[in-house]
Formats: sequence, C-alpha cells, structure tokens
Amino acid sequence: MTASTSTSHAADIAAIREGVRALCARFPGEYWRGKDRERAYPGEFVAALTEAGYLACLIPEEYGGSGLGVSAAAAILEEIHKSGCNGGACHAQMYIMGTVLRHGSAAQKAEYLPKIASGALRLQAFGVTEPGAGTDTTSIRTTAERRGDCYIINGQKIWTSRAEHSDLMLLLARTSPRGAVAKKTEGLSVFLVDMRAARGRGLTIRPIRTMINHATTEVFFDNLEVPAANLIGEEGRGFRYILDGMNAERILIAAEAVGDARWFIAKASAYAKERIVFGRPIGQNQGVQFPIARAYAATEAAALMVERAAQLYERGEAAGKEANMAKLLASEASWQAADACLQTHGGFGFAEEFDIERKFRETRLYQVAPISTNLILAYLAEHVLGLPRSY
Ligand SMILES: Cc1cc2nc3c(=O)[nH]c(=O)nc-3n(C[C@H](O)[C@H](O)[C@H](O)COP(=O)(O)OP(=O)(O)OC[C@H]3O[C@@H](n4cnc5c(N)ncnc54)[C@H](O)[C@@H]3O)c2cc1C
Repeated sequence: MTASTSTSHAADIAAIREGVRALCARFPGEYWRGKDRERAYPGEFVAALTEAGYLACLIPEEYGGSGLGVSAAAAILEEIHKSGCNGGACHAQMYIMGTVLRHGSAAQKAEYLPKIASGALRLQAFGVTEPGAGTDTTSIRTTAERRGDCYIINGQKIWTSRAEHSDLMLLLARTSPRGAVAKKTEGLSVFLVDMRAARGRGLTIRPIRTMINHATTEVFFDNLEVPAANLIGEEGRGFRYILDGMNAERILIAAEAVGDARWFIAKASAYAKERIVFGRPIGQNQGVQFPIARAYAATEAAALMVERAAQLYERGEAAGKEANMAKLLASEASWQAADACLQTHGGFGFAEEFDIERKFRETRLYQVAPISTNLILAYLAEHVLGLPRSY
C-alpha cells in the first residue's frame, strides 16, 4: 500500500466510524435496556445497519456490497460497541457470508449475495456447535445423507444464535461417518439451509434464555430435506471451509471487545471525575485511577493486535497467530475494563439505568464464544510455540 492509498484508507475508515457513531446515537441505552428486559431482538437497529449498508461491507461490489476489507468491518463493530450498542444481533452475517463468497459456486453467489447485501435475505445463523461435541467440532453427530437431489439432515445444534431472525443458516453436518474417513476433519460438509422453507418441515427452533439478550436457540433436524444445490463447495471438505472463516471471525469479535472496553473506560473515567466522596472526586484516589489506567493499557495493546491481524488478513498473509491473540487479549481487556468500571461506580454500577451491568454481562461472553480462551491458548502453545498437542 502506498502512502497516499494508506492515507485515503485511513480517511475512509474515519468516515465509516463517524457514520456508525451517528447511527448508533439513534439507539441509546434506553433502547437496549428495554430489549434486554424483554429479551427482544433489536430488529430496528439491525434494519438501520442493513439499510445503511454496513452489514454488506465485506460483500464485493459486483454483488451489491461495498467490497471493503476486514479493517472496515472491524471499525464498524468496534464503533457499535464503543457507542454502547451491541453487534451480536447481526455480526455473524459479516463473516458467515465469507464461506459462500470463497467456496460457493458462481450460481450460489449470484443467487444469494445480492439479496444478502440488500437485506432481502438474512444470513445470520451459523449451526456448528452441538451439545455432545462442544468445542470438539469434528465429533459432531448431525448427519446429511444424500438421497437423489436432496440431502436428508438429522441431528441437533445448540447455541445457534439468531436462528429465529434469519432466513438462511450455514450448517455444518457429517456426510461421511467419522470411522469411514482417513482424518476426522474429513467427511464434514457445509450447507446453506433455507429456514423459511424448512420450519415445520423437519426443522424446529427453540429459544434458550441466557444471562444476556442474544437470541440464541437450539435447533432440531428431523429428516429435513435440503436440496443438493445448497451444498457449499465440495462434499466432505466443510471443516476446512469453516476454518477458513475463523480468522476473520476472531478479528471482528476482538474488535467488538475493544469497543466494549473503550466504552467502559470512558464511562469509568467520566464518573471518577465527577463523583465526589470525602470532599473530592473519587478519581483523585490512585486506588480508583490505577485499575482504569491498567485496563486502558490492556485495551490499547489489544487494539494494536486487532489492527495488525486485520492488516495481515487483508494482505492475504497468514494471520492465525495474530487473529487468535487479538481475540484473547481483547476479550480479557474488555473484562478488565468492565470490572474496573463496575467497581468505580460502586453501588450505582448495579443499577440498570447506568447500562454497566448489562454491558458487564454482555462482554463476559467473549471469553467463551465463539471460541473459549483455553482453546486459543492451546492453539498458540501447539501451533506457534511447538509444544506437544494437548488434545
Ligand atoms: C451466547 C452464545 C452464543 C453462541 N452462538 C453460537 C452460534 O451462533 N453458532 C455456534 O455454532 N455456536 C455458538 N455458540 C457456541 C460457542 O461457540 C461455544 O459455547 C464455545 O465454543 C465453547 O464450547 P462449549 O460451550 O461446548 O464448551 P466445551 O467445549 O464444553 O468446553 C467447556 C470448557 O472447557 C474448556 N475445555 C474444553 N476442552 C478443553 C481442552 N482440551 N483444554 C483446555 N480446556 C478445554 C473450554 O475452554 C471451556 O471453558 C454460542 C455460545 C453462546 C454461549
């Protein structure tokens, strides 16, 4: 990248950030508190983001998107979270779409991507995790058996977020039994399931109430017929396709966590300056200052790693190490910032109207999903440091 293109890229990102901030200002804490209380989907917010084209930022221009890179997508999600909003209702569309873009046929791309870009079709659901397999993805038991022009799907997914608010689901299922393939990573395939046609015809979705408002569900497949035309790429290579999308996912989730951390730090700093106890601002006490300053340092370090991972990814270079570290550092920084913010607010941190307790609950997720901290550490230990494989 030349100096001038780098300057214009920075200006583009700054303009995107400003646009997202302006949009988010229309969805203040009160809006999110109401949704949280009712465990309701923030449909108006998702519609506004879709209309403004932000969710289509990674879709190439030829399919109606803006053809931007992962840095732009990261900036969008970071700003959403920094503004006190939450991208969890729609962020998956950005990275799930990549599987169709990279591995879908020309016909699939022409059919789905323009509609996803315009918002006519929602691709928000990603069915990978199963209750029995957990993190051990190659042990999934949902099967897809070829019968004529269809695949017959049987099994169950859990934590399939947004399934009730999505038209399409990207589904990972076994097409060859684990015992029949040379490597356990083979024999898995990816399908684009049209849930509009499938609900009540072999597809059942049950919401799961959780400590956060995340529209997550469990999904049951009972002889669901999916047209063979909806297989993405080659049969049996699905695990590889899912892995291909993981670096982008890690970078984008890390950007959200950085956004949360910055929201907590701004909120804590402002309150520490204005809250007077013992005749002086609480922020004058180093016991109050230091946890905020420590969280700030952790956040800035994590943000640099997100930026570095995004740059490598955009240049098509190996980004696994950096994307994983970005997610690890950002999820821990956001939790550190959340804790400092809550502590700074004393009792008021627990009051709903301050939004801290809600964001506190929300940001805890990043250490568990979409991948838990231990699994990132295991990746770094094994693949970067060359330590013996632990599982
Ligand atoms: C709100 C929410 C939304 C989600 N959305 C989606 C979604 O849309 N689609 C989807 O497919 N999934 C989704 N998930 C699932 C999520 O990706 C998993 O919960 C996560 O990957 C952890 O898997 P698990 O819950 O099965 O934990 P487990 O695999 O049961 O692990 C439990 C704990 O043990 C640790 N552990 C396991 N094995 C090892 C090991 N070998 N070494 C060290 N530690 C280990 C883990 O780190 C973890 O802390 C969501 C989860 C939640 C909570």
